[in-house]
Amino acid sequence: MTHLLKLRGVHKSFAHTEALRGVSLEVQRGEVVAVTGPSGSGKSTLLHCAAGVLVPESGAVTFDGQRLDELDEAARTRLRRREIGLVLQFGQLVPELTAVQNAALPLLLDGTDRRTARTAALGWLERLGVAEVADQVPAELSGGQAQRVAVARALVTGPRIVCADEPTGALDTVATEVVLTQLLAAVRDAGSALLVVTHDNRVAARADREVVLHDGALVGGQSVARS
Ligand code: ADP
Repeated sequence: MTHLLKLRGVHKSFAHTEALRGVSLEVQRGEVVAVTGPSGSGKSTLLHCAAGVLVPESGAVTFDGQRLDELDEAARTRLRRREIGLVLQFGQLVPELTAVQNAALPLLLDGTDRRTARTAALGWLERLGVAEVADQVPAELSGGQAQRVAVARALVTGPRIVCADEPTGALDTVATEVVLTQLLAAVRDAGSALLVVTHDNRVAARADREVVLHDGALVGGQSVARS
């Protein structure tokens, strides 16, 4: 079996909202899967369940043969830190840390020495075109710069899968191209995978596959093959 991530019959509700109604999805190693659909259709919830941020009420989330939904929060956090690169909407950088410290954070938390972590983080900031803001704090960054720092932070550990929620939402056309190219290269070089929530047709068009959510379910229960 080559699938890296597998969701089976995932249900997730918030109060009276059924955000996901039995979603099943497999992501293979090396695969780029775009998740599209109208606002409120459950895209972010799906991504959060896939990354082990949220635990579904029923259904299974399996990452590399391991049931994510059966791990406790500490174990999911550890797994995420090492193996799952997460890009959340609006970046969510640590306000007290500089851009390079934010990008290096997953490595530092995992015990990498400061100098090695800083060098790796700077390399990613450079590839993403934001090396010049390395020593600035998030309040001094534009939305697009902050988003690129958040992508650097997700890629710095060489994760097995990157789960990204609108990673180009704050970017202009040129920056979108830079971020997409780097995300796709990182995934292809490492034989990892990318699950990306997007409204942007340019992002969806570069994916191997697009799955469409509507009202908490994959439309037709089928994915749309692109290649
Ligand atoms: P999308 O990413 O497609 O816009 P979401 O996954 O954010 O959709 O949301 C799906 C549904 O779940 C929406 O109706 C939304 O209002 C609801 N929802 C999402 N997160 C929460 C939450 N933390 N609390 C309450 N309702 C939520």
